Amino acid sequence: MTRGAGLRFSRRWLGGMVAGLVASLVGAACSGGGGATAGDTGGSQCLEAIVFDIDETLTISDAEWEMQKADGTYDPVERAAASEMVSAYADRGYQIIYLTARSQTWVLGGTGESSTDATRRWLEEHGFPLDPASSRIILSKTLVSGDTAIAYKAGALADMQAEGLVFDGAYGNATTDIAAFAQAKIPKDVTFIIGVHAGEEGTVAIAGEGWQAHLDTYVSSVNGACAAP
Ligand SMILES: [Mg+2]
Repeated sequence: MTRGAGLRFSRRWLGGMVAGLVASLVGAACSGGGGATAGDTGGSQCLEAIVFDIDETLTISDAEWEMQKADGTYDPVERAAASEMVSAYADRGYQIIYLTARSQTWVLGGTGESSTDATRRWLEEHGFPLDPASSRIILSKTLVSGDTAIAYKAGALADMQAEGLVFDGAYGNATTDIAAFAQAKIPKDVTFIIGVHAGEEGTVAIAGEGWQAHLDTYVSSVNGACAAP
């Protein structure tokens, strides 16, 4: 028992050391690079970010969330390699933004869990990066759809841009995603759309139903955030 506890402590200590070293390296890269950093606000945190829709982008279908809402114990099916793709960006030093039109007002059937808690739990259980220093989960305060969903997402992106965040990539599946990303002036060549609207409005079409090929052919060769030009 004691030995096991000691081992856990050692691993945690080692993890902290590694995290500290990585933070130092990222800080060094950001302060020396040409990317967006929080240098004027007292830190050297890289502000280059990637935004991800959740439903039917990281999951296989909007219906997955509907099923989880009806039965809080249901585990929505993740698109192949979704967590690996998001993790690849996190490993490269990008801020990870999960921006969903799920409403904070929903409560899950059976379990009574809040939609905010359920969303975080699903991301956690599926291995998505959730470091509080470099990721955010944003849900809508109210029920939105269509034009109100566009306004909500575009508004959230504008708020983050006002903080200094720069979006180097955007991932979605819906026409509302395409419109919101366009309003935020995220370049079309880094606006990646999967599903039936893939490639619409000049976005980059993701073929198929998973992210593995995109991870292998694109994300794996993306430069680290805030790298020197
Ligand atoms: Mg979606």
